[in-house]
Amino acid sequence: MRVLKTEILRINPVQPEMDKIEYAAKVLRDNGTVAFPTETVYGLGANALNEQAVHKIFHAKGRPADNPLIIHISDLIELDKLVAGTTETVQKLASAFWPGPLTIIMKKSDIIPKIITAGLDTVAVRFPSHSVARSLIKASGLPIAAPSANSSGKPSPTIAQHVIDDLLGKVDMIIDGGPTEVGLESTVIDTTDEIPVLLRPGGITIEQLRNVLGEVHVDTAVTREIDKSTIPRSPGMKYTHYAPNAQVIIIEGNRQKVIETINQMTEEKRSQGMKVGVMSVDETASLYHAHHVLSVGSEGNPQSIAANLFHTLRKFDELGVDIIYAQSVNEQGIGMAIRNRLNKAAGYNIVRV
Ligand code: AMP
Ligand code: MG
Repeated sequence: MRVLKTEILRINPVQPEMDKIEYAAKVLRDNGTVAFPTETVYGLGANALNEQAVHKIFHAKGRPADNPLIIHISDLIELDKLVAGTTETVQKLASAFWPGPLTIIMKKSDIIPKIITAGLDTVAVRFPSHSVARSLIKASGLPIAAPSANSSGKPSPTIAQHVIDDLLGKVDMIIDGGPTEVGLESTVIDTTDEIPVLLRPGGITIEQLRNVLGEVHVDTAVTREIDKSTIPRSPGMKYTHYAPNAQVIIIEGNRQKVIETINQMTEEKRSQGMKVGVMSVDETASLYHAHHVLSVGSEGNPQSIAANLFHTLRKFDELGVDIIYAQSVNEQGIGMAIRNRLNKAAGYNIVRV
Protein backbone atom coordinates (compact mmCIF):
# COMPACT_ATOMS: atom_id res chain seq x y z
CA MET A 1 0.00 0.00 0.00
CA ARG A 2 1.26 3.46 -0.91
CA VAL A 3 2.02 5.50 2.20
CA LEU A 4 0.29 8.87 2.29
CA LYS A 5 1.47 11.90 4.18
CA THR A 6 -1.32 12.27 6.72
CA GLU A 7 -1.81 15.82 7.91
CA ILE A 8 -3.12 16.18 11.48
CA LEU A 9 -5.19 19.27 12.11
CA ARG A 10 -6.50 20.31 15.51
CA ILE A 11 -9.85 22.10 15.34
CA ASN A 12 -11.87 23.61 18.19
CA PRO A 13 -14.96 21.38 18.54
CA VAL A 14 -17.10 24.15 20.01
CA GLN A 15 -16.15 26.99 17.69
CA PRO A 16 -14.39 25.51 14.66
CA GLU A 17 -11.81 27.88 13.14
CA MET A 18 -13.23 28.58 9.69
CA ASP A 19 -9.84 28.90 7.96
CA LYS A 20 -8.99 25.36 9.09
CA ILE A 21 -12.41 24.05 8.07
CA GLU A 22 -11.92 25.59 4.61
CA TYR A 23 -8.48 24.01 4.34
CA ALA A 24 -9.88 20.55 5.20
CA ALA A 25 -12.89 21.02 2.91
CA LYS A 26 -10.50 21.59 0.01
CA VAL A 27 -8.99 18.14 0.61
CA LEU A 28 -12.52 16.69 0.26
CA ARG A 29 -13.20 18.72 -2.89
CA ASP A 30 -9.94 17.39 -4.34
CA ASN A 31 -11.31 13.87 -3.75
CA GLY A 32 -9.02 13.15 -0.79
CA THR A 33 -9.89 11.47 2.52
CA VAL A 34 -10.43 13.35 5.80
CA ALA A 35 -11.17 11.79 9.19
CA PHE A 36 -13.29 14.06 11.36
CA PRO A 37 -15.21 13.97 14.65
CA THR A 38 -18.97 13.56 14.75
CA GLU A 39 -21.22 13.30 17.81
CA THR A 40 -21.21 9.48 17.47
CA VAL A 41 -17.66 8.38 16.57
CA TYR A 42 -14.92 9.68 14.24
CA GLY A 43 -15.81 9.24 10.55
CA LEU A 44 -13.58 8.84 7.50
CA GLY A 45 -15.02 11.14 4.86
CA ALA A 46 -14.73 11.50 1.10
CA ASN A 47 -16.75 13.00 -1.76
CA ALA A 48 -19.80 10.71 -1.99
CA LEU A 49 -20.37 11.53 -5.65
CA ASN A 50 -16.91 10.49 -6.84
CA GLU A 51 -16.20 6.81 -7.17
CA GLN A 52 -12.43 7.14 -6.88
CA ALA A 53 -12.71 9.21 -3.71
CA VAL A 54 -15.05 6.65 -2.16
CA HIS A 55 -12.75 3.83 -3.21
CA LYS A 56 -10.01 5.43 -1.06
CA ILE A 57 -12.22 4.95 2.03
CA PHE A 58 -12.64 1.22 1.39
CA HIS A 59 -8.94 0.88 0.68
CA ALA A 60 -7.78 2.74 3.81
CA LYS A 61 -10.08 0.82 6.14
CA GLY A 62 -9.72 -2.56 4.45
CA ARG A 63 -13.53 -2.53 4.31
CA PRO A 64 -15.28 -5.31 2.38
CA ALA A 65 -16.83 -3.93 -0.84
CA ASP A 66 -20.26 -5.34 0.02
CA ASN A 67 -20.61 -3.17 3.13
CA PRO A 68 -22.34 0.08 2.06
CA LEU A 69 -21.52 3.56 3.38
CA ILE A 70 -23.58 6.26 5.06
CA ILE A 71 -23.79 9.63 3.27
CA HIS A 72 -23.56 12.69 5.51
CA ILE A 73 -25.29 15.99 4.76
CA SER A 74 -25.24 19.39 6.45
CA ASP A 75 -28.67 20.62 5.45
CA LEU A 76 -32.02 18.93 4.96
CA ILE A 77 -32.28 20.48 1.49
CA GLU A 78 -29.45 18.21 0.29
CA LEU A 79 -31.53 15.11 0.97
CA ASP A 80 -33.78 15.56 -2.08
CA LYS A 81 -31.12 14.92 -4.67
CA LEU A 82 -29.82 11.79 -2.90
CA VAL A 83 -33.11 9.91 -2.61
CA ALA A 84 -35.93 8.88 -4.95
CA GLY A 85 -38.44 10.63 -2.71
CA THR A 86 -39.24 11.14 0.95
CA THR A 87 -42.14 9.63 2.90
CA GLU A 88 -44.07 10.86 5.90
CA THR A 89 -41.96 8.51 8.06
CA VAL A 90 -38.76 10.13 6.83
CA GLN A 91 -40.14 13.60 7.49
CA LYS A 92 -41.16 12.67 11.02
CA LEU A 93 -37.75 11.15 11.75
CA ALA A 94 -35.85 14.08 10.26
CA SER A 95 -37.78 16.67 12.21
CA ALA A 96 -37.49 14.73 15.47
CA PHE A 97 -33.86 13.58 15.32
CA TRP A 98 -31.87 15.58 12.74
CA PRO A 99 -29.28 16.87 13.13
CA GLY A 100 -28.28 13.95 15.35
CA PRO A 101 -27.18 10.31 15.66
CA LEU A 102 -29.81 8.76 13.37
CA THR A 103 -29.20 7.21 9.92
CA ILE A 104 -32.22 6.78 7.65
CA ILE A 105 -32.36 4.19 4.85
CA MET A 106 -34.40 5.34 1.82
CA LYS A 107 -34.76 4.48 -1.88
CA LYS A 108 -31.74 6.00 -3.63
CA SER A 109 -31.64 8.46 -6.52
CA ASP A 110 -29.62 7.91 -9.71
CA ILE A 111 -26.71 10.17 -8.76
CA ILE A 112 -25.42 7.80 -6.06
CA PRO A 113 -22.44 5.75 -7.27
CA LYS A 114 -22.82 1.98 -6.94
CA ILE A 115 -19.73 1.73 -4.75
CA ILE A 116 -21.56 3.64 -1.95
CA THR A 117 -24.57 1.34 -1.74
CA ALA A 118 -22.77 -1.91 -2.60
CA GLY A 119 -25.28 -2.33 -5.41
CA LEU A 120 -28.41 -1.96 -3.20
CA ASP A 121 -31.30 0.21 -4.43
CA THR A 122 -31.38 2.02 -1.09
CA VAL A 123 -29.09 4.63 0.45
CA ALA A 124 -28.24 5.46 4.08
CA VAL A 125 -28.22 9.19 4.97
CA ARG A 126 -27.35 11.05 8.16
CA PHE A 127 -27.30 14.72 9.17
CA PRO A 128 -24.76 14.94 12.03
CA SER A 129 -25.01 17.59 14.74
CA HIS A 130 -21.30 17.95 15.63
CA SER A 131 -20.16 21.45 14.73
CA VAL A 132 -16.92 20.30 13.07
CA ALA A 133 -18.74 17.68 10.98
CA ARG A 134 -21.47 20.09 9.99
CA SER A 135 -19.23 22.97 9.05
CA LEU A 136 -16.80 20.71 7.18
CA ILE A 137 -19.56 19.14 5.09
CA LYS A 138 -21.11 22.53 4.43
CA ALA A 139 -17.79 24.08 3.40
CA SER A 140 -17.06 21.18 1.03
CA GLY A 141 -20.36 21.77 -0.75
CA LEU A 142 -20.63 17.99 -1.18
CA PRO A 143 -22.47 15.05 0.28
CA ILE A 144 -19.80 13.18 2.26
CA ALA A 145 -19.58 9.39 2.50
CA ALA A 146 -18.21 8.49 5.92
CA PRO A 147 -17.98 5.16 7.74
CA SER A 148 -16.30 4.99 11.11
CA ALA A 149 -12.61 5.95 10.86
CA ASN A 150 -11.15 2.66 12.13
CA SER A 151 -9.50 -0.27 10.40
CA SER A 152 -12.29 -2.62 9.42
CA GLY A 153 -13.18 -4.97 12.32
CA LYS A 154 -11.59 -2.81 15.05
CA PRO A 155 -13.55 -0.81 17.63
CA SER A 156 -14.75 2.53 16.26
CA PRO A 157 -12.59 5.56 17.13
CA THR A 158 -13.84 7.95 19.80
CA ILE A 159 -10.69 10.13 20.00
CA ALA A 160 -8.30 11.27 17.25
CA GLN A 161 -5.51 9.07 18.65
CA HIS A 162 -7.56 5.95 17.79
CA VAL A 163 -7.75 7.16 14.18
CA ILE A 164 -4.02 7.89 14.16
CA ASP A 165 -3.34 4.37 15.50
CA ASP A 166 -5.40 2.77 12.71
CA LEU A 167 -5.10 5.06 9.69
CA LEU A 168 -1.89 7.13 9.82
CA GLY A 169 -0.28 6.96 6.37
CA LYS A 170 -3.51 5.68 4.83
CA VAL A 171 -5.59 8.87 4.70
CA ASP A 172 -4.88 12.46 3.67
CA MET A 173 -5.98 14.24 6.83
CA ILE A 174 -7.07 13.58 10.41
CA ILE A 175 -8.94 16.33 12.24
CA ASP A 176 -8.52 16.23 16.01
CA GLY A 177 -11.65 17.68 17.58
CA GLY A 178 -11.48 15.99 20.96
CA PRO A 179 -13.51 13.04 22.24
CA THR A 180 -16.87 12.22 20.66
CA GLU A 181 -19.99 12.55 22.75
CA VAL A 182 -22.16 9.47 22.18
CA GLY A 183 -19.29 7.02 21.63
CA LEU A 184 -21.33 4.49 19.63
CA GLU A 185 -22.27 4.64 15.94
CA SER A 186 -25.58 6.07 14.78
CA THR A 187 -28.89 4.28 15.03
CA VAL A 188 -29.85 2.89 11.59
CA ILE A 189 -33.53 2.67 10.61
CA ASP A 190 -34.88 1.32 7.32
CA THR A 191 -37.95 3.23 6.11
CA THR A 192 -38.48 1.39 2.83
CA ASP A 193 -41.03 -1.06 4.26
CA GLU A 194 -44.56 -0.28 5.43
CA ILE A 195 -43.37 -0.65 9.03
CA PRO A 196 -39.92 0.83 9.71
CA VAL A 197 -37.19 -1.54 10.89
CA LEU A 198 -34.37 -0.81 13.33
CA LEU A 199 -31.24 -2.29 11.74
CA ARG A 200 -28.65 -1.01 14.21
CA PRO A 201 -29.28 0.42 17.70
CA GLY A 202 -27.35 3.57 18.64
CA GLY A 203 -27.62 6.97 20.26
CA ILE A 204 -31.33 7.29 19.37
CA THR A 205 -33.13 4.53 21.28
CA ILE A 206 -35.95 2.23 20.11
CA GLU A 207 -38.17 3.91 22.71
CA GLN A 208 -37.51 7.33 21.14
CA LEU A 209 -38.24 5.97 17.65
CA ARG A 210 -41.52 4.38 18.75
CA ASN A 211 -42.58 7.61 20.43
CA VAL A 212 -42.37 9.36 17.07
CA LEU A 213 -43.45 6.59 14.67
CA GLY A 214 -45.59 4.16 16.65
CA GLU A 215 -44.76 0.66 15.48
CA VAL A 216 -41.09 -0.08 14.71
CA HIS A 217 -39.72 -3.57 14.14
CA VAL A 218 -36.32 -4.66 15.42
CA ASP A 219 -34.26 -6.66 12.93
CA THR A 220 -33.24 -10.05 14.32
CA ALA A 221 -29.57 -9.24 13.68
CA VAL A 222 -29.71 -6.55 16.40
CA THR A 223 -29.95 -9.02 19.25
CA ARG A 224 -28.88 -12.35 17.81
CA GLU A 225 -26.01 -13.78 15.90
CA ILE A 226 -26.97 -14.32 12.27
CA ASP A 227 -25.91 -17.56 10.68
CA LYS A 228 -23.64 -17.46 7.69
CA SER A 229 -26.34 -18.46 5.20
CA THR A 230 -28.76 -15.55 5.80
CA ILE A 231 -28.38 -12.32 3.88
CA PRO A 232 -28.74 -9.52 6.45
CA ARG A 233 -30.75 -6.39 5.61
CA SER A 234 -27.84 -4.33 6.76
CA PRO A 235 -24.76 -5.88 5.19
CA GLY A 236 -22.49 -4.53 7.95
CA MET A 237 -24.28 -6.76 10.45
CA LYS A 238 -22.60 -9.91 9.26
CA TYR A 239 -19.04 -8.88 9.95
CA THR A 240 -17.10 -9.39 13.16
CA HIS A 241 -16.96 -5.94 14.59
CA TYR A 242 -15.58 -3.84 17.34
CA ALA A 243 -13.20 -6.61 18.26
CA PRO A 244 -10.04 -6.03 20.27
CA ASN A 245 -7.15 -8.46 19.74
CA ALA A 246 -7.92 -10.34 22.94
CA GLN A 247 -10.82 -12.75 23.15
CA VAL A 248 -13.87 -11.20 24.85
CA ILE A 249 -16.29 -13.29 26.95
CA ILE A 250 -19.50 -11.81 28.37
CA ILE A 251 -20.73 -13.15 31.72
CA GLU A 252 -24.38 -12.47 32.43
CA GLY A 253 -26.95 -13.37 35.07
CA ASN A 254 -27.34 -12.82 38.80
CA ARG A 255 -24.90 -10.09 39.87
CA GLN A 256 -23.27 -12.00 42.73
CA LYS A 257 -22.87 -15.10 40.51
CA VAL A 258 -21.37 -13.03 37.71
CA ILE A 259 -18.71 -11.64 40.03
CA GLU A 260 -17.92 -15.07 41.49
CA THR A 261 -17.74 -16.68 38.05
CA ILE A 262 -15.46 -13.99 36.64
CA ASN A 263 -13.13 -14.28 39.63
CA GLN A 264 -13.08 -18.08 39.29
CA MET A 265 -12.35 -17.92 35.57
CA THR A 266 -9.67 -15.31 36.23
CA GLU A 267 -7.89 -17.66 38.66
CA GLU A 268 -8.07 -20.51 36.19
CA LYS A 269 -6.55 -18.53 33.31
CA ARG A 270 -3.98 -16.93 35.60
CA SER A 271 -2.76 -20.36 36.66
CA GLN A 272 -2.34 -21.20 32.98
CA GLY A 273 -0.05 -18.19 32.66
CA MET A 274 -2.52 -15.98 30.83
CA LYS A 275 -2.89 -12.24 31.33
CA VAL A 276 -6.50 -11.53 32.24
CA GLY A 277 -8.56 -8.34 31.85
CA VAL A 278 -11.94 -7.68 33.42
CA MET A 279 -14.33 -5.05 32.10
CA SER A 280 -16.38 -3.97 35.10
CA VAL A 281 -18.59 -1.02 35.94
CA ASP A 282 -17.65 1.59 38.57
CA GLU A 283 -19.95 -0.07 41.09
CA THR A 284 -18.16 -3.45 40.91
CA ALA A 285 -14.58 -2.57 39.95
CA SER A 286 -13.15 -3.18 43.44
CA LEU A 287 -14.62 -6.71 43.57
CA TYR A 288 -12.44 -8.20 40.84
CA HIS A 289 -8.81 -9.23 41.09
CA ALA A 290 -7.61 -9.74 37.52
CA HIS A 291 -4.31 -8.30 36.23
CA HIS A 292 -6.19 -5.40 34.72
CA VAL A 293 -9.64 -4.33 35.86
CA LEU A 294 -11.00 -1.46 33.74
CA SER A 295 -14.34 0.09 34.53
CA VAL A 296 -16.35 1.00 31.43
CA GLY A 297 -18.47 3.56 33.29
CA SER A 298 -21.15 3.90 35.90
CA GLU A 299 -24.23 1.71 35.83
CA GLY A 300 -26.19 4.69 37.08
CA ASN A 301 -25.11 6.59 33.95
CA PRO A 302 -25.41 4.31 30.88
CA GLN A 303 -24.37 7.22 28.62
CA SER A 304 -20.95 7.06 30.26
CA ILE A 305 -20.71 3.35 29.38
CA ALA A 306 -21.58 4.07 25.73
CA ALA A 307 -19.01 6.85 25.62
CA ASN A 308 -16.22 4.69 27.11
CA LEU A 309 -16.87 1.26 25.58
CA PHE A 310 -14.65 1.39 22.49
CA HIS A 311 -11.88 3.25 24.29
CA THR A 312 -11.88 0.60 27.03
CA LEU A 313 -11.71 -2.26 24.51
CA ARG A 314 -8.75 -0.58 22.83
CA LYS A 315 -7.07 -0.04 26.21
CA PHE A 316 -7.12 -3.77 26.92
CA ASP A 317 -5.19 -4.26 23.68
CA GLU A 318 -2.59 -1.72 24.77
CA LEU A 319 -2.24 -3.60 28.06
CA GLY A 320 -1.66 -6.80 26.12
CA VAL A 321 -4.20 -8.98 27.90
CA ASP A 322 -4.96 -12.43 26.46
CA ILE A 323 -8.57 -12.61 27.52
CA ILE A 324 -11.24 -10.12 28.61
CA TYR A 325 -14.15 -11.04 30.87
CA ALA A 326 -16.93 -8.49 30.49
CA GLN A 327 -19.70 -8.09 32.98
CA SER A 328 -23.02 -7.80 31.06
CA VAL A 329 -24.89 -4.48 31.03
CA ASN A 330 -28.51 -3.44 31.46
CA GLU A 331 -30.27 -3.40 28.06
CA GLN A 332 -32.70 -0.54 28.59
CA GLY A 333 -32.45 2.63 26.51
CA ILE A 334 -28.94 3.09 25.10
CA GLY A 335 -28.14 -0.27 26.77
CA MET A 336 -29.50 -2.02 23.68
CA ALA A 337 -26.78 -0.42 21.57
CA ILE A 338 -24.08 -1.07 24.18
CA ARG A 339 -25.07 -4.74 24.39
CA ASN A 340 -25.20 -5.07 20.58
CA ARG A 341 -21.59 -3.80 20.24
CA LEU A 342 -20.41 -5.88 23.19
CA ASN A 343 -22.01 -9.03 21.73
CA LYS A 344 -20.19 -8.43 18.47
CA ALA A 345 -16.89 -7.68 20.19
CA ALA A 346 -17.31 -11.02 21.95
CA GLY A 347 -18.39 -12.84 18.80
CA TYR A 348 -21.48 -13.82 20.86
CA ASN A 349 -19.31 -15.70 23.31
CA ILE A 350 -21.66 -15.45 26.29
CA VAL A 351 -21.64 -17.41 29.56
CA ARG A 352 -24.97 -17.38 31.43
CA VAL A 353 -24.76 -17.99 35.18
P1 AMP B 1 -20.36 2.39 9.57
O1 AMP B 1 -20.53 3.64 8.81
O2 AMP B 1 -19.04 1.75 9.46
O3 AMP B 1 -20.77 2.59 10.99
O4 AMP B 1 -21.40 1.34 8.95
C1 AMP B 1 -22.57 1.74 8.28
C2 AMP B 1 -23.68 0.77 8.57
O5 AMP B 1 -24.84 1.14 7.81
C3 AMP B 1 -23.34 -0.66 8.16
O6 AMP B 1 -23.85 -1.54 9.12
C4 AMP B 1 -24.03 -0.79 6.82
O7 AMP B 1 -24.33 -2.11 6.51
C5 AMP B 1 -25.28 0.06 7.02
N1 AMP B 1 -25.82 0.53 5.74
C6 AMP B 1 -25.29 1.47 4.93
N2 AMP B 1 -26.06 1.61 3.83
C7 AMP B 1 -27.08 0.75 3.94
C8 AMP B 1 -28.20 0.43 3.13
N3 AMP B 1 -28.43 1.02 1.96
N4 AMP B 1 -29.06 -0.53 3.58
C9 AMP B 1 -28.85 -1.14 4.77
N5 AMP B 1 -27.81 -0.87 5.58
C10 AMP B 1 -26.93 0.06 5.18
MG1 MG C 1 -17.92 1.04 11.26
